[in-house]
Parts: sequence; C-alpha cells; structure tokens
Amino acid sequence: MKLAIGVDDTDSRKGMCTTYVAALLAERLRRLGEVYELRLVRLNPNIPWKTRGNGAVAILAEVEDVDAALELAVRTVEELAETGEEGTDPGIVACEASRSERLRRFYDRALHGVVSLEEAERIAELERCWTHRLKTGRGVIGALAAIGAELSAHTYELIAYRRRENWSKPRQVESASVVEMDRATKHDTFNNLDPETGRVLITPRSPCPVLYGIRAWRREVLERAMRMVRAGEAIERYAVFKTNQGTDAHLMEKDMAAVEPFTSVIVKGRVAAEPRTIRGGHVIFTIEDGEAALDCAAYEPTGSFRGVVRMLRKGDVVRAFGGVRERRRLTINLEKLEILELAEQWVHANPLCPCCGRSMESAGKDKGYRCRSCGERADSKIRRRVERSLAKGLYCVPPRAMRHLTRPCAA
Ligand code: ATP
Repeated sequence: MKLAIGVDDTDSRKGMCTTYVAALLAERLRRLGEVYELRLVRLNPNIPWKTRGNGAVAILAEVEDVDAALELAVRTVEELAETGEEGTDPGIVACEASRSERLRRFYDRALHGVVSLEEAERIAELERCWTHRLKTGRGVIGALAAIGAELSAHTYELIAYRRRENWSKPRQVESASVVEMDRATKHDTFNNLDPETGRVLITPRSPCPVLYGIRAWRREVLERAMRMVRAGEAIERYAVFKTNQGTDAHLMEKDMAAVEPFTSVIVKGRVAAEPRTIRGGHVIFTIEDGEAALDCAAYEPTGSFRGVVRMLRKGDVVRAFGGVRERRRLTINLEKLEILELAEQWVHANPLCPCCGRSMESAGKDKGYRCRSCGERADSKIRRRVERSLAKGLYCVPPRAMRHLTRPCAA
C-alpha cells in the first residue's frame, strides 16, 4: 500500500528538528518497503506558536505491513521528540497516499490561515486517516497539512545531520568551501550566503541536529554541492526533501480592505506619506487605496532593503509583499516590494539665466533674481523636477532576513 506519514511539532527551542525525525524514520521504513519521497512543508509563517520556521514533514512510502510502519513511526517520534519541553506537542498522521481535494484544501488553509486541532481531527476522520497524539497533539495540524501539500511549485533541500555528541557544540563548516560551492552551483542553489554580510546561511544557529541545509531549484545538483562543503565534523546522515520553500506559496493577492492578521499578502497601494524611521532603525510607511490604509514595515534586520524603502515618496504606487501583524494598525512585515510607479518630485529653485544657463542669485528682499555674470533678471523662483534615484522594479529583503517560503528576487 502507498502510505503517507506526516509528523510535526517534535522540536523545541532547546533541540531536535522534525526533519531529523523524518530522516531517521525514512531509513527505518526502508526496511519494510520503498520510501519514494520526503517532504518538508512550510506552513503559515505568521503562527505565533511556531518554534522557528513552521515546518512539518511527510514521508511517502510503499509498504506491505502498514501496522509495522505505524509502530515504527510512533516509536521514532517517542524516542526523539522533546516532549519534556512546554509547547512541544507532537502529532503523527497516516493516510493512504492518494490525491484528495479535501486534504489539499486543508494544506492551503494551514499555509494561509489559522486552523484548529478539532478541524484537523475532523478532516483526518473523514479521510480515514490514522492519527497519534503526544501531549495535546497539536502537531496533527501540521502533519495532516504536510500529507495534503500540493507541491506543484517546489524546490529541494539537502539536510546533513550531526552526530549526537556534537549537537550542542559550535558547527564546524568551512566558510570558504561554502563560497566555492555557491559559486560552482549558483544557478541551481539559492540562499547559501548573504551577499551583504558574507554570512554563511546554510548552517542554522539553533542547538539542533542539523549541520547544514543546501537549498536547490534542481534535485540533481545537491549531492555534488554537499561534496563541495568541507566540514570539520562527521556527517551522521543526510536526507533530500522536496519542499515549498522559495516558492512564494504563502502569498495571496488581496484588496487592502480584505487584509487580515496572521496572513501573508500581496497588496497594491499608493504611498500616503514619506517613510519614517522609528527607534531601532525600523522604517515604516503607509499605503492607501482610497478605501483602506495599511502600514508597511522594513525592520532593522532587513539591512540595505530599508534604504530602498526610505527613498519612497508620497504618491508612489507599490505592491507590498509580506506577513500581516496587528500593531497600532494592520502592518505588513515586508518581504518584497515592487515599485510600479514613481510620483514626480518638484522643488522650488532659483531661476536659470537664459544667457549662460547658470543659477541666478537673489537680488535682495523682494527684488527678484539676477545673473551675476550676464545681469539678466527674473521675478520669482521656478519649479524644477527632481530626478528620482529609485528605479521601478522588484526589491527583496537580503537572504539573511528572508523567510523560508519567500522566492528570492534573482530567481
Ligand atoms: P521547526 O521549523 O524547527 O520544525 P516549527 O517552527 O515547525 O519548528 P513546530 O514545533 O512545528 O514549529 O510548531 C508549530 C505548531 O503549529 C505545530 O503544532 C503545527 O501543527 C501548528 N500549526 C502549523 N500551521 C498551523 C496553522 N496554520 N494553524 C494552526 N496551527 C498550525
């Protein structure tokens, strides 16, 4: 039978990673049959109770002995999950791996909105899925969504894991080798490095079993890329996941008035006033469309992206991309910004001499303007158009501040 097993919520801020549980479980399932896909599915990035990147996993396998497969899944999750930590509430779901519209719609809702555990359980029951909960079992939500995920647009991630004795130690990955790997595979891999700071992005910062993860548009390049990365510690195992990372799957085009908190949106609007920089270096501006208004924020970690935002002027037309938070008013936490129209900017300046073309000087209070060399005169200031230094186009936050789901601008 073709079986899909979804798992979620096994990790805490102190350790573990649900992808590691999947990698180990996949190896164990291979003793019972064939594992033909590992999925890493990122769900709504605006969920407040996520540990980090709101990732859930699914394993697709062809097995004869379903009971043995489910037993392995429970044993592996019980062995590895951080159930001693508050907020770690693992869930396992297993269904026959067939395309179901209802499951696909559930994935959509878990990607774009907030769903309840009751809803997940009801759908699991309707779909005749088997579920297993540890503690509150909230992970059933992510596990079911991972099974339902439609990855028509997808990328891949190879995740290399560390030996247990190294889990809490600093990671030994040679930066120069990541630079070389990035250069050699640059059309096929993404977000290996942050160009602005040179920071290596393939290594996480949490005390989890992941040594590094290489993201790619094409699966074929990943093993070659892995061989290029030099690590000063042993790789215990690795696994390649099919994912929705880097696909913009979370973003939905919305009218401004229909924007809701905890969703990720693309909204078109006109800049209502000059951007302002607030304490902490965050840059905020407001957009409006005649019916509603929204704040957009480029936070301090978005680095040079804030420079683009600061150059916006009242009247510019933009598309804002990002997750919605409720601050003073609804605020889009910007992931990208597309500048569609630039408003004309005018200044009042001294008139130009019709003879020599130079700027005239004031001839004294209420006496108009005069050219010092030619003696030409003029009564008043002129309005001059200012060239905008900002170009139309799409701008992204730098990779170090990018969400897993965001498609990089250069792609
Ligand atoms: P990591 O990425 O390191 O695996 P995480 O950020 O994925 O960690 P989890 O520990 O998986 O965080 O916690 C997320 C929890 O939120 C899970 O229990 C999952 O079932 C639940 N969840 C995911 N998406 C939604 C959603 N759209 N609505 C409600 N709950 C959700």
